[in-house]
This record gives sequence, C-alpha cells and structure tokens, in this order.
Amino acid sequence: MVPPIPLTRREALEAWSGFASRIPAYAQSRNAINEGHGNVSRLGAAIRFRLITEDEIITETLAGHSFPIAEKWIQEVCWRRYWKGWLEKRPQVWSNWRLQVAKLQHGLPPETLARIDAVAAGRSGVACMDHIARELIETGYLHNHARMWWASFWIHVERLPWELGANFFFRHLLDADPASNTLSWRWVAGLQTPGKTYLVRLSNIRKYAPQLLRGNEARSGRLADDAVTACCVEPTPVPIPQALSPCDTSLPLTTGRIGLWLHPDDLTPEVGPLADLRPVSAAACISDRVYHEIYQLSARRMASLRTMLRDGLTRTAAHYDCPALALEQDDPVAGLCDWAKEQQLSGIVALTPMVGPIHDMLGRLRRELASMGILLTLIRRPSDEVAFSFASAGFFPFWQKMSSHLRQLLPP
Ligand SMILES: Cc1cc2nc3c(=O)[nH]c(=O)nc-3n(C[C@H](O)[C@H](O)[C@H](O)COP(=O)(O)OP(=O)(O)OC[C@H]3O[C@@H](n4cnc5c(N)ncnc54)[C@H](O)[C@@H]3O)c2cc1C
Repeated sequence: MVPPIPLTRREALEAWSGFASRIPAYAQSRNAINEGHGNVSRLGAAIRFRLITEDEIITETLAGHSFPIAEKWIQEVCWRRYWKGWLEKRPQVWSNWRLQVAKLQHGLPPETLARIDAVAAGRSGVACMDHIARELIETGYLHNHARMWWASFWIHVERLPWELGANFFFRHLLDADPASNTLSWRWVAGLQTPGKTYLVRLSNIRKYAPQLLRGNEARSGRLADDAVTACCVEPTPVPIPQALSPCDTSLPLTTGRIGLWLHPDDLTPEVGPLADLRPVSAAACISDRVYHEIYQLSARRMASLRTMLRDGLTRTAAHYDCPALALEQDDPVAGLCDWAKEQQLSGIVALTPMVGPIHDMLGRLRRELASMGILLTLIRRPSDEVAFSFASAGFFPFWQKMSSHLRQLLPP
C-alpha cells in the first residue's frame, strides 16, 4: 500500500527519518517510477508548505552522509529554492501566467476547451498519459518523471497551451508550488531556457516506467521517439532579475502587542528567526473561498491545505503559549484586519510570503493595516535570503555558489 502524503509536521518528520537511510541510493534510483514510490521521498508538500524546512533536511543529511554521497539529494532539495529565488526576482512571470490562464479559459474555441477537459480527465486515448492524469486527480502526487512526460505530452503532442496544463497541475498537486510548477512548465515548453524544450520519448518511458505502458502507445505512434517534435511556443524574453523585495531577517525591536500571522508559505515559525517572538495571539486564514473561486483547487488539495494550516496552528499555540485562531472570513485581508483590531495589536509579524497567492494580497493587507496604525513586519529566513541571492541566472551557476556555501557550513 502507498503511504499517505505527509500533511502534518509529525508525519513529515517520520517520513523524513524513514527516507534518510535511502539517500545513498537516491542518485541511482530516483528516475524510475516504482509502485509505492519508495525510491523518492514524497516530501514535496511537506517541504513546499514548510512543515519541515530545507535547512533541517540538509543539516540532518550532512550529519549522516558525506557531501559527495548526498550531493544529488541535496541538489534536488535545492531546486525548489532555486526556482523560488528565480521567481522572487521576476514576479511578473507569476502574474502573467495567472492573467493568461483567465484569458485562455474564456477565449479559446469550444473544441479546444473540450480537448483540454478530455486530456486533463485522462481521456486523451494514450493509455500511459491517461493513467498519469488519473493518478494526479486521485492522489494529488506524481513522480517527477511523470510530471515531465505529461507536461511534454500536453504541450508538444497535444499542442495545448502550457498555461492551462500548469493550471491543471496547480489545482491538483498537493505540493503545488507557484515557482516549481510555473517554471517547470515553462522549462518543458522551452521558455525557461530559450530554445531548449523537453520532449517525451516512448523509449524513456519504457526504460523508467515500463509498467505504465499498455501497448496502445506504440500502436498509436504518438509518443514514438521520432514523432514528437517541439511545438513552437511563442517565445517571450526571459525577464531581467530585479532586486529581492526588501525584508527583515531578524525580529523587530517592538514592545507593543504583537500578533503572529501563520500562512501556508511557511508553516513552521517555531523553528527559525521567529522562534523567540512573544506574540499575544496568532492566526491563520483557513477559508476556502479564495482558493475555490480564483484557483479552483481540487477538493483534495483544499482539504490538504486545511490539514496543514490546522497542524501549524496547533504547534503555534503550543510553542508560543498563546491562542492561535483559525480565521474563517471569506476575505483573508478583512479577516486579518478584524483579528488585529479585536486583539488590539500594534503590529503583525510573519515569515515573508513568497511570490504566489499569499504574496498577491500583501499590498492590500499592508495598506489596510497601515490605515489602522498597525505595522506589518515580514521576516525572511536568512538561509532563503542567501539561496535566493544566488538564483539570478541558470541552475548550474546557482548550484556552484550554493554547494560551496553549504560546504562552508560543514564542521572542519
Ligand atoms: C511540469 C512539472 C511541474 C512540477 N510542479 C511542481 C510543483 O508544483 N511543486 C513541487 O514541489 N514540485 C514540482 N515539480 C518538481 C518535482 O517534480 C517535484 O518537486 C517532485 O517530484 C516531488 O516529489 P518527491 O518529493 O517525491 O521528490 P524527491 O525526488 O523525493 O525530491 C525531494 C525534494 O526535492 C525537491 N525537488 C525535487 N525535484 C525538484 C524539481 N525538479 N523542482 C523543484 N524541487 C524539486 C522537492 O522539494 C522534493 O520534495 C514539477 C516538475 C515538473 C516537471
């Protein structure tokens, strides 16, 4: 039986400690898709929403394994931070994607929209691709290779707009991450590294996941190695990186009544720069409305978000010894402002939300709090600040800087 995806910190720590001994085999075994996915960690959701931090994983990895043995594993864990840093410096890539999703959903011809629905429902007619689509809907998880193949199938075989494929993933993946998802889809489409597309190959599926093939793939010829050619996705210039948005990296020296805002971009405030905060109250917005109306997240994904937020609130209440409230208002900004007023807060502190849904509401939140005389202080984890600063260009220059930074942290 496939164990459930970890959605609380306790489950994440247990899953992580169960996986740690498999790190030496990870580099060799990670590409295969096995039943049960025992060769990969399935920690994506836990890391994306920070039920467990990359810092914890990397520190514990290096306590048990040498850098060369663990390098591939650490590199993969760092891919998320690379994508995040890249997007932090180019937030318009996220907002343009959201605009395009809305535009395409309303502007494409009905027959294209019908094909989109059929392929996303697992009715493309190519058995292994349909299996992958159904696995995503039924479990909220896909192995990395399945994500790559399916995204390539969508773009280069079905010739459907990458933006709507990325939207399908974003609605269903329990680890859906604005940076990893949007930028991986752009990479498959050939937009992230201009001119370099990722093409799905039947021989590659046969090598890494032969059990997915039912025979009709070879008969249809649609995935044949020489049949898949790059769909010409209209290139857009890769934006020039901007400076990171300014944030604090240490606690504010304030003496008033402070509230801690817990949000899904980082659900472990008790570990890291906010550990010593003394909030009088904590709160998280748990209404589904925004996620339902704007992002049309699947029921499974919304339920997983609620589970993770409630777990975060329970831990927050225990660590900070203060009430931790689940705000149910449909409008999260109004919910946070009402909470601040009721608690007579002079300031709200949070770990910095990263480019994505929470970040999108920061401007309004800041303005409305300021009109009430309440200061919003956002603190970036120092290790994010360092990692993001390396993410100006491609992954390999990033990794050169990141790996030498990590090596310096090792005991002599
Ligand atoms: C089209 C496409 C869309 C994707 N969308 C997402 C997404 O929405 N959210 C998401 O977290 N990942 C996404 N990925 C990246 C990757 O597929 C997943 O992070 C990984 O499969 C998660 O499964 P795992 O935890 O078992 O991985 P493992 O192999 O166990 O990797 C361990 C951890 O390393 C990180 N990681 C590994 N590979 C990548 C990668 N390529 N990019 C970023 N981080 C990585 C993740 O935190 C992962 O949990 C996408 C990849 C593709 C090709």
